[in-house]
Amino acid sequence: MDVYLESCSSYEQAENVLPPLLKRYEGLFWKNETVWVKPNMLTTRSPEEAVTTHPTIVRGVLRFLLDLGVRPVVSDSPGVGSVKKVALACGISQVCQELGVPLIEIEGYVEKDGEVFKQLRLGDLIDQVDAVVNLPKLKTHGQMVLTLGVKNTFGCVLGLNKPAYHLRAKDYHLFADLLIDVHQLVKPVLTILDGIDGMEGNGPSHGLKKRLGLLAACENAYALDHAVASRLHVSPDKIYTLVRAKTRGLIPPYTIRGEWENSIKMPDTVGLTEIVKMPKWLQDYTHRWARVPVFDTVKCIRCKICETHCPAEAITVDDQRIDYKKCIRCYVCHELCPQDALLLKRKLLKAGGQ
Ligand code: SF4
Ligand code: SF4
Repeated sequence: MDVYLESCSSYEQAENVLPPLLKRYEGLFWKNETVWVKPNMLTTRSPEEAVTTHPTIVRGVLRFLLDLGVRPVVSDSPGVGSVKKVALACGISQVCQELGVPLIEIEGYVEKDGEVFKQLRLGDLIDQVDAVVNLPKLKTHGQMVLTLGVKNTFGCVLGLNKPAYHLRAKDYHLFADLLIDVHQLVKPVLTILDGIDGMEGNGPSHGLKKRLGLLAACENAYALDHAVASRLHVSPDKIYTLVRAKTRGLIPPYTIRGEWENSIKMPDTVGLTEIVKMPKWLQDYTHRWARVPVFDTVKCIRCKICETHCPAEAITVDDQRIDYKKCIRCYVCHELCPQDALLLKRKLLKAGGQ
């Protein structure tokens, strides 16, 4: 298995780098088959903010598929807002219009059993297409450390089911198992990672944009994620999805093609326990020094997105209160807040909670 890590210094250059990269995968597709192209469309942000997959990458992949006689459709289930609204903000709607590719709003769901989690609700589009092409964005992630190919397919779970799944899998390793179950059900035939402009620090929506200069491709997202983490000098042992994928025997042997490497600043939420090995009693103590969301009362516009999406029902916006006894530290509130009004502050919690 080859993982291609192509250096690419700008989206203008991507127009030249992408076609030969994609040409290697022509044999994966059939004329007239329907392919779901699944970018990261987290929320209504512009392409320049590096939160969503850049429209240049989406355009390049759609053109490649159209030239092969494939029928692509574009969709995702954004964290907040409709597909149409998010696609308009992140420039993907304009690309679909330009190329005459349908942009699909998923409304129904199908239930499927994963290996660890049963009855997972995925958007019903999954049963209406022949294949999925996965287009993640390279970003840090408060809970999962990095979001790459495997995490991106969680967008195939419909809107408000996502917070419910965070509650179903409170433990980070268990949540990684759930992400892997979803990924195994979606089974993308190809993953193309947009790492030209990525995000470091407190991603995946309020971190710092960083030019990382990478276009990566592989048929296997576990291999791709493992290769990218290694070349970012982030130990794959710190990435929950990779730890669980390794245990489940899902990372195939691979060869990296390309010289790209870079570095990335971790989210503040990545604790000491993830960095150094320590005895259990010390782990419990350091866990109590957790980063927790705290309201920035000046920035908050009381839209209640955080309250609606908090899986633990720990947030009351009216009196700007967070119940840390209930909080499972999934950081969904921080991810979805449109105002960056939830700060991640270190707080000493009592044993077992607040
Ligand atoms: S999502 Fe952000 S702006 Fe909206 S109520 Fe919550 S903290 Fe305030
Ligand atoms: S308060 Fe925020 S971090 Fe805590 S459970 Fe709710 S959404 Fe997750």
